[in-house]
Amino acid sequence: MPRLRIQVQGVVQGVGFRPFVFRLATELGLGGWVQNRPEGIRIEVQGAGFGQEEFLRRLRVEAPRAAVIHDLVCDSLPESADGAHFRILPSESEGDRRPSIPADLALCPECEQEIQDPGSRRFRYPFTNCTACGPRYSIIASLPYDRSRTAMAEFPLCPDCRAEFEDPLDRRFHAQPMACPRCGPKLVYCGPEGGPGSETEAALAAALDLLKRGGILALKGLGGFQLLVDARSQTAVQRLRDRKGRAEKPFAVMFPDPEFLEAACVVDAIALAALRGPAAPILLVPRREGSPVALAVAPDNPDLGAFLPYTPLHRLLLEGFGGPLVCTSGNRSEEPMAIGGAEALARLGDIADGFLGHDRPVLRPLDDSVGRMEGGALHLLRRARGFAPLPLPMAGPSVLALGGHMKATVTLLAGDQAVVSQHLGDLDSAQGLALLERTVADLLAFLEAAPERLACDLHPDYGSTRVAEALACRMGLPLLRVQHHHAHVAAVMAEHGLRGPVLGLAWDGSGWGTDGTVWGGEALEVDGTGFRRPGHLRPFPLPGGERAVREPRRAALGLCLACLGKPGPAAAAFNPEELAVLCRATERGVNTPMCSSAGRLFDAVASLAGIRSGAGFEGQAAMALEFQARRGRSAGGSYPIPLKEGQADLAPLLEALLDDLRLGADLPAMAFRFHAALADLALAFAEAAGREWVVLSGGCFQNALLSELCQERLASRGFQVFRPARFPANDGALSLGQAWVASRISMEH
Ligand code: ZN
Ligand code: ZN
Ligand code: FE
Repeated sequence: MPRLRIQVQGVVQGVGFRPFVFRLATELGLGGWVQNRPEGIRIEVQGAGFGQEEFLRRLRVEAPRAAVIHDLVCDSLPESADGAHFRILPSESEGDRRPSIPADLALCPECEQEIQDPGSRRFRYPFTNCTACGPRYSIIASLPYDRSRTAMAEFPLCPDCRAEFEDPLDRRFHAQPMACPRCGPKLVYCGPEGGPGSETEAALAAALDLLKRGGILALKGLGGFQLLVDARSQTAVQRLRDRKGRAEKPFAVMFPDPEFLEAACVVDAIALAALRGPAAPILLVPRREGSPVALAVAPDNPDLGAFLPYTPLHRLLLEGFGGPLVCTSGNRSEEPMAIGGAEALARLGDIADGFLGHDRPVLRPLDDSVGRMEGGALHLLRRARGFAPLPLPMAGPSVLALGGHMKATVTLLAGDQAVVSQHLGDLDSAQGLALLERTVADLLAFLEAAPERLACDLHPDYGSTRVAEALACRMGLPLLRVQHHHAHVAAVMAEHGLRGPVLGLAWDGSGWGTDGTVWGGEALEVDGTGFRRPGHLRPFPLPGGERAVREPRRAALGLCLACLGKPGPAAAAFNPEELAVLCRATERGVNTPMCSSAGRLFDAVASLAGIRSGAGFEGQAAMALEFQARRGRSAGGSYPIPLKEGQADLAPLLEALLDDLRLGADLPAMAFRFHAALADLALAFAEAAGREWVVLSGGCFQNALLSELCQERLASRGFQVFRPARFPANDGALSLGQAWVASRISMEH
């Protein structure tokens, strides 16, 4: 019987793949070896024919749950004399290594069982983990991934743990962050004033007592501090909103177990599998009628951001609490999460009523990932824990891209892979900018990369642009400024490995256009290196510029002034003095940029339809319009948006909407017609461009209904539609798009 050589590629390092192969081969009585190599895992096996077949079958079926096999190639070799025993060879790490940084993994079923077993030495131990689960990226100081270079370096293994660590047949074989109550981190609880507190079980009990009394708990989680409060208590949730300065933006809710979650939300088997999987993201799912979750958790929102305990500590807390808990990042509005104990006390002291911490350092902030299931596939809206920084294969010269200003990320393209950082938040604060710079330094060190060029947005005032300019100066590298919507389209091309040319529909709130106006309703033809702009929404004025983001009535006024020549029904949202000032400013073009933004068009329509005139957070009015439209689907119909020489004329849309309003039409029906009108427009842009491939990108496509309608309409006419899934449609993917563009352009130094 010949020997088999098996080459496995994908996410196979840092997930317990080698010990799994070892156990499988040993069980089947096969000889040979397994080895970590730069390109993946190499296996050679020999033995009885049945054993080899069985080995191949079980290799796929029983692979560790966090492993993702992209490619498995087999070929035959002559039998060798390396004996009957199976071995794990030392990793091969030659010069051209492409280290991969493993992502954090949610509590696995075996460890979950272990902490519930009174006979286990890890009974109720909150830092239990194994090769299939536990912290990774959040605790890595440097590569290669090894305990001595992680936050676990200060916890030497006890003899029992050491024996497990060294036993190839144990599921903790080489589990770098493994620990037990004897040698691992310990829980500590203290009140808001700090000082010495209770430890271990007493700490957990104190935290649970606080939560049961409706208090706000700051919890040192996997990637930084989180704020927890009883999700069933309207007053407790409202207190958290008041103290955190977060008026209406939805909070995520962690449920004790899948049964509890299913009782409160509508989830199918595929969604449940994602929730319970190794990444365990927050999923936006419909909330059930009569769910016990307080309305203040997600006001005026039919969906709930739901997730399950993903660390043993969360598991123990939720089990002890026995009900759903709001679980949100421990920060003030849009600042990054606090990760250090002293820092948390200082920053969260007047928000939290108590702190549950531990002595394992968190080395970098890592938010929870957020996604939504659409058509059976996970579409990420925020990519962080569990997904970042897993690489995307991409060839090209090494590029460092600094991304946008909101939902910032950094991308480093090196060694045929693009590594996109975790979601870093907004760059308005000094902490946000510092985190961006630290993340750049981290990625450069991890990948030992020396980028040849830098990329950033065209916007001169983005925090990331200023950081990129300083870096370009310091490193003596050329800096490419990539237009915002070009980068949006390019990010999807990178994700799907498209070369182009494609027609990209990049619809979002705003991005700096090459003509100095605000873009956001664009039809761009993108090949690799450049783009053309064959179409866009007809520009309308935005009185007050950026202030319009939080005041949809301003977009409504601008749209009416542009299309009707007068304020019309938009006037009703202002007092006469305000209105006069804004009309005059618009006439003279004072602080009133022109915009072709689809996001602002959503705001304008929502405001005119009377949904709301203010917005507590960007996109709130647009979301409310989407929720209405979901209910108006059966009404059907659409509004006209004719395309004239590439410009989408918004006047007929506005007039039809105002007619409906005068006739007292149903709000959900009007909202649906508006969504349908944009899908018709997507098709009109595509037919005018005549490209077979159409990319949908930009923050507006976080709207599931809009995405679905556009996809349907385009596919029905034979267009092939590409949407973002593994990376967000919003500005979180800009750095990836910038890296893709910069790697394809030939640059003169
Ligand atoms: Zn485990
Ligand atoms: Zn131990
Ligand atoms: Fe954008």
